[in-house]
Amino acid sequence: MKKGVFVIAEQRDGNLQKVSLELLGKAREIADKLDGEVVAVLLGYEVDKLTDTLIHHGADRVILIDNINLKHYTTDAYTKAICEVAKKMNPEIIFIGATYIGRDLGPRVAARLKTGLTADCTGLDVDEETKNLLMTRPAFGGNIMATIECPNHRPQMSTVRPGVFSVPCADYERRGEVERFDVSIKEEDIKVKIEEIVKSMKEKIDITEADIIVSGGRGVGSKEGFTLLKELADTLGGIVAGSRAAVDSGWIEKDRQVGQTGKTVRPKLYIACGISGAIQHLAGMQESEYIVAINKDSDAPIMAVADLAIVGDLYKVVPELIKEIKAYRQ
Ligand code: FAD
Repeated sequence: MKKGVFVIAEQRDGNLQKVSLELLGKAREIADKLDGEVVAVLLGYEVDKLTDTLIHHGADRVILIDNINLKHYTTDAYTKAICEVAKKMNPEIIFIGATYIGRDLGPRVAARLKTGLTADCTGLDVDEETKNLLMTRPAFGGNIMATIECPNHRPQMSTVRPGVFSVPCADYERRGEVERFDVSIKEEDIKVKIEEIVKSMKEKIDITEADIIVSGGRGVGSKEGFTLLKELADTLGGIVAGSRAAVDSGWIEKDRQVGQTGKTVRPKLYIACGISGAIQHLAGMQESEYIVAINKDSDAPIMAVADLAIVGDLYKVVPELIKEIKAYRQ
């Protein structure tokens, strides 16, 4: 039997979460090192249309658990279903996206399977000698990166931050198996009853999904200053994010924070305005395809990672940029 590298494929309302595809790409690499197979576990109701996408992105096999009681996420039902699969198939590894759902599900599944869990990982590899999974995550308040192994228990489990790995290119020629797996979930197994789902009208933007990000730091100086960054972002069809200093100052919401204790982003274009480029900030954005830094200080660390470093006052540079882009478009 090949060693199974399992990825819990998270879907919401029938839409796969990007992190699940990111995990398939990484799982493929890990499985190749272990001479194993990548297995996507897809849970939900009437979600069989998603199986092809999982195979195209690296799964050798999809275990489909289609059940009316899995239509909406509940900790009880999803835990029970995943544990039944794991007990039957003895995976070597289980990866779960560190989304709100994954962070709830991971620890519960790990406890039931009597194994360990490394939460919120930012790096994954295999030890060449022992073949154990190497799970890296920030530790001690983010001051060190710790690489953790789980040598004595199986499966080795980790939740992984969205945006850390890139989505592999889809290979539409790829073929794989789809295996339906029946679980015995009864309504009474689910302690939480969902009466109604109310979707918040608040515009929720996920910075990890953005192609263009205009990010502001302490150098922006005020909440009002972010209106200028928003204008640049709107001109480019992007969104605004910020450093922790900007978030702590209350100039931008916490869910827009880029960095070690914020989100990891890898947009096509990242424009850093008035951000020095502390290591904790770079950890969240240095994989961006093209980085523009605007800073008064030519020695700021962000300038060293930038593809284009503009030395100057952002309040002079950004309006010029907006003007030039608009003129170019006309
Ligand atoms: P500063 O470092 O103060 O830099 C401001 C920059 O703006 C300077 O380079 C200055 O030259 C420039 N500037 C000033 N005025 C202008 C102007 N008018 N025009 C152009 N440039 C100007 N930080 C994060 O960002 N994300 C994280 O997730 C994160 N996690 C952390 C976790 C831990 C455990 C710790 C200890 C720290 C963390 N930090 C994080 C904080 C990080 O160390 C830095 O303090 C923070 O990133 C600094 O933010 P900044 O670059 O906006 O501010």
